[in-house]
Amino acid sequence: MSDTIKNQAATQPSQTTQPSSFADIYNASINNPEQFWAEQAKRIYWHKEPEQILDDSNLPFAKWYVGGETNLCYNCVDRHIPDRAEQDAFVWLSSEINQELIQTFPAVVDAFKDLGNNVEFYTDYTKRRLTYNDLYKEVNYFADVLQRHGIEKGDRVIIYMPMILEAAYAMLACARIGAVHSVVFGGFAAHNLAIRMDDAEAKMVITVDSGLRGGKVINYKNLVDKGVEQANVKPEHVLVVNRGILPYEPKDKDIDYASQRRISCDANAVVEPVWLESNEPSYLLYTSGTTGTPKGVQRDTGGHAVALTTSMDYIYDGKAGETFWAISDIGWAVGHSYTIYAPLLAGMTSVMYEGLPHRPNPGIWWRIVEANKVNILFTAPTGVRMLKKQDETWMTRYDVSSVKSFFLAGEPLDESTANWLTKHLNVPILDHYWQTESGWPILSNTPKFNDKPHKKGSPGFPMYGYDAQVIHEDTGEPCAAGEKGLLAIRAPLPPGCLTTVWRNDKRFIDSYFSLTDSNQYSTSDYAVVDEDGYFHILGRTDDVINVAGHRIGTQEIEEAISTHPEMAECAVVGIQDELKGELPIAFCVLKDHEQVTTTENRFRIEQQVIGAVVKSLGGIARPAAIYFPQALPKTRSGKILRRAIRALAEGKETGDMSTLDNPVAIDAIKQSMKDY
Ligand code: ATP
Ligand code: MG
Repeated sequence: MSDTIKNQAATQPSQTTQPSSFADIYNASINNPEQFWAEQAKRIYWHKEPEQILDDSNLPFAKWYVGGETNLCYNCVDRHIPDRAEQDAFVWLSSEINQELIQTFPAVVDAFKDLGNNVEFYTDYTKRRLTYNDLYKEVNYFADVLQRHGIEKGDRVIIYMPMILEAAYAMLACARIGAVHSVVFGGFAAHNLAIRMDDAEAKMVITVDSGLRGGKVINYKNLVDKGVEQANVKPEHVLVVNRGILPYEPKDKDIDYASQRRISCDANAVVEPVWLESNEPSYLLYTSGTTGTPKGVQRDTGGHAVALTTSMDYIYDGKAGETFWAISDIGWAVGHSYTIYAPLLAGMTSVMYEGLPHRPNPGIWWRIVEANKVNILFTAPTGVRMLKKQDETWMTRYDVSSVKSFFLAGEPLDESTANWLTKHLNVPILDHYWQTESGWPILSNTPKFNDKPHKKGSPGFPMYGYDAQVIHEDTGEPCAAGEKGLLAIRAPLPPGCLTTVWRNDKRFIDSYFSLTDSNQYSTSDYAVVDEDGYFHILGRTDDVINVAGHRIGTQEIEEAISTHPEMAECAVVGIQDELKGELPIAFCVLKDHEQVTTTENRFRIEQQVIGAVVKSLGGIARPAAIYFPQALPKTRSGKILRRAIRALAEGKETGDMSTLDNPVAIDAIKQSMKDY
C-alpha cells in the first residue's frame, strides 16, 4: 500500500446524517440545492475542497463543485483499501468461456495466467474474483502501461472491449491519470468506430483479440484495424488484451498488454492519482442512437462521483459489502454507472457478466445470483422478456433469497413482464427511468424510504435534484394531473448529468434546451403525472402517431398488446396513410412462433390482439395490420429500433443502422410482411 492511501484514509468523509422521508430529501434538494449537494459531497474524498458548490451563471451550462479536486479512481479503489482490501470488488463470470470453448481455443487458459488473476473453471462458466487489493494493483499496472505509452491527462482513449475485467481496469486507469475514456459498444462495425475515433480525436484504442457472443467469435482486433484505416485522426497506439482466442499479426501501432503488464507488475508500479478539477471531463459516451445519430455525452468528474455515490444510498439502498449486479454492457450508460463506478464508489461487490441470459440455459442469471448472493439486480426489460419466452421453472431451481430488489430501466416495463418477475421473485420489481444524458435515475422508486410506496406501471417520481415537470410542449405551461405532456427538467441539471456534448456546445443547446423556456431541459419523452404524483412515461416524442387527428403513443398500443398471454414482445409503428394521416402497424413476437403457422390460429391471435387494443384504447388505435416476425431489430443496449421497423413497413431503406445489434431481425421483419 502506498503512503498516500494511509494518510488520506484518515481524512475519510463522515457519513452524512440519514433523513427519514424521501419528501424531506426532495424538498431540500430543490429548495436549497447548494446546501443539499454540499452535504452529499461529503460522501467522497476531495483532495481539495470545492470553493463554490454551484456556478449557475451561464445556464443551461452548470458547474458543480467549482475548484474542488478529486479523482474517480481514487474514490473507487484506493479509498477502500484500509477497510475492505480483502473484499471482492468484482466477480467476473463468463458463460461464453465454457469447457467447449476452452477445448477449441486451449490458449485461453494461458492467457488468463498472463493477465494475472485466479480463475475458476466450471463446466458452464468461468469465474474470476478480484479483491479491492487485487483491483488496486491491476489498475496501477494498467495506468502505468498507459503512461509509459504517452497517455496523459486530457487525452482521449477509446475502449472497444467486451465485458471482461481488463475493460474495467482500462476505464479506472484512464480515470486515475485523468485521461478521458470513451467506451464504444463491442461489435460495432469498423465504420462506427472510425467516426468515434475522429470525433474524440483518440490517442489510443484499447481492444482485445476477440469478443464472444452466444458462442460466436467476433474479431475485435480486425474491426479496430479497419477502423484505424478509415479514421482521419489515427490513434498512436492500439493496446491489445490478448485473450488467446484469435491469433493476430501484430501491426506497428500494436502493444501487447500482457507483456507490458508484466513489466509494470515486476516493478510493483504505483501510479499516483492525477487530481482533476471537478468540472474536468471524466468520460464521453455516445447515446444509443434509437431516434437519430448518437450524441457524445460528456460527463464531469466531481459531480459524477457525488451523484453516483448518493444514488447508491438513496435510490438503490446499496450498502458497502453488499453485491450489486447491473446486467448490462459497459458500452451503455448503465454499465458505466452501475457495473463500474457506483458499486465501487459505495464499497460494494460488483458482478460483471459476459454472456447471454439464456445460455447455456435460461437459469444462468439465477445460478449466478445464488452462487454470489446478489442483493440488488438491475437490467433492461428486454433480457427479462427473453427469459419469459423460456420454461418458467428455471428461476425456481435456485435460491434467489439474497435479492432484495430488482430495478429495470431503458424501455417501458410492461405489466406482464413485471408480473412474470413478481410471480417468481418475491421482492419489489422497480421500474425506473433515466437517460445516457443523466447517468443516474431521473424518475425512480426508493425502496429505502416508505413515504412513497412503489406503484405498478409507474417508474416512480422525480429524484432529488431533478426539478422535473410535465409541460405543454408549445407553451411551456405545466400540465395538470392526468394531462399528457413533455417531461422537462429545469436547469441547472443536478450533478452527474451531461455537462455538454463533446466539443459541441451548440448541439447541447439545440438537442436539449430549445423549448420556449430556454432553461428547461427536454427529455424528448412524453409523460403524465397521476393524482398521487407518480409519473408515467408515454413514449418518445418521435413515437407518437397521428391517426385521423388523434395523437396516440405507440407505446400505449404496445402495452395493450403485451397483455396477450402468448406475446413475448411487440413493436408498434405508424405508417403514412393518405386518408388518416398515419396508421398503427403491429409487429408481434410470440413466445412460440409455431402458433401462427396455421391460418386458423393466426386469425385467432390477430383478433385477440385487436380486441385487446380496442378494449383499452378504442377503435381509433386498432392496428391496420399485424405481423408476426421471429425477432425485432434492437440496439446493442436492447432497445427496439422502431425507426428501422417503420422504414421497413413503409417499404423504405432503414437508413443509419450503426447501432443495430441483430441484423437478422431486419430479415425477420421483411419475412413477416411477406408471410402475410
Ligand atoms: P438517442 O437519444 O440517441 O435516440 P436513446 O434515447 O435510446 O438514444 P438512451 O439514453 O440509452 O438512448 O435511452 C434513454 C431513453 O430510454 C429515454 O429517453 C426513454 O425514452 C427510454 N427509457 C429509459 N428508461 C425508461 C423507462 N423506465 N420507461 C420508459 N422508457 C424509458
Ligand atoms: Mg435519447
